[in-house]
Amino acid sequence: MITYKEALEEVLRRATPKFAIKKYLIDAVNLVLAEDIVSSENVPFSDNSAMDGFAVRFEDIKGASKEKPAILDLIGEVPAGKSLSGQISAGEAVSIFTGAVIPEGADTVVEIEVTEVKDGKVYVYEEREIGANIRRKGEDLKAGEIVFSKGTLITPSVVGVLASIGKASVKVFKPLTVAIISTGSELIDIGDKMKVGLVRNSNTYLLEAHLKEIPSLKVLNYGVVSDDISSLEEVFEDASMSADLILSTGGVSLGDYDLVKLVLEKLGFKQVFWKVAQKPGKPLAFYEKNGKVAFGLPGNPAAVHICFLEYVRPYLLKSLGYQKWSPIVLKAKLMDSHSKKKGRLNFLRVFLEEKNGEIWARKAGKQGSGVLSTSARSNAIALIPAEREFVEPGEIVEVHYFSNNGW
Ligand code: AMP
Ligand code: MG
Repeated sequence: MITYKEALEEVLRRATPKFAIKKYLIDAVNLVLAEDIVSSENVPFSDNSAMDGFAVRFEDIKGASKEKPAILDLIGEVPAGKSLSGQISAGEAVSIFTGAVIPEGADTVVEIEVTEVKDGKVYVYEEREIGANIRRKGEDLKAGEIVFSKGTLITPSVVGVLASIGKASVKVFKPLTVAIISTGSELIDIGDKMKVGLVRNSNTYLLEAHLKEIPSLKVLNYGVVSDDISSLEEVFEDASMSADLILSTGGVSLGDYDLVKLVLEKLGFKQVFWKVAQKPGKPLAFYEKNGKVAFGLPGNPAAVHICFLEYVRPYLLKSLGYQKWSPIVLKAKLMDSHSKKKGRLNFLRVFLEEKNGEIWARKAGKQGSGVLSTSARSNAIALIPAEREFVEPGEIVEVHYFSNNGW
């Protein structure tokens, strides 16, 4: 059986961003940059005032106070968007507004609140440091500087910055379309009446919700399909044509009705691997065909949750062009003991907490692959190596934390 590390490597090897397309700025939000963005302009474009007030020479206002104000000649006004022709000389001040260009000769702005104008003179009642209230040319961004690198998610503030440097359109990676299919004749949906022997479908909801957390994806949710080869073939064929990637659940273990692998093979998909030395999620299957891939996830919801985070999510993030696709890897002390059989890596759903400056991972509940409520109560996954049989409380384990800030 292939190991988790080997399987993940096979998955990631096939995850490469494919097409770059040009998008108008606003339509690029939630997509990923496919180019480095270099600013052709300084932001701000020139030194300008951060306040309404008076542009002065520091020399002239040094030591100014309520009792001993600096008294300067008011020689003009610079509204926002304008600059003064001419310059300020000793003993002079110019009335200036936020955003207006600092006149030549001036090196400091005194805000209006500490001044008074009387008979064409400006009285400055407080001293300011040299350079006070001036936004410097290029202080935010410098011309020629890489502002954002390839792989950056375009958030609303990225859009704002792009606008501020005059970028009307940017190259982004094409969003991916993901098909979700749940297989199983025993499955009923949310509104259906429960009876003995039936199982309510949660996997398609779980997966669609997980996918919603990743910007720049489109989802085609095919819902539930029964274990019948012709129905499965029809749905998988449609999905393989309409989507870049198929996520199916169920039908990949050894039982008579486990038909997903058969159907994928009939449609020309080639098996990359099937079965991984891990618990839960052992029957995970991975297929490819002409650059498209299909994940045959197990049916058990907790295995779906874990396989999604450990395999599908990194595949998607890397394929979408994100710089970071891995979870944040931490070391934490396991609060509980854990015993297991040798041979399979165990994924434990845990809750990370800080105690006396240390990170502890507490088992979030029963770890059975059918117990989805434990997933809902967890915030991370601990990895217990295949060769281990017993882990003592307080032992340090590797933990995967799936933060959206990671991209
Ligand atoms: P399978 O791998 O198809 O044998 O499924 C394994 C277990 O997962 C069975 O108990 C199924 O009933 C359950 N299961 C499969 N699909 C779903 C689903 N969509 N929602 C909830 N449970 C499921
Ligand atoms: Mg099944």
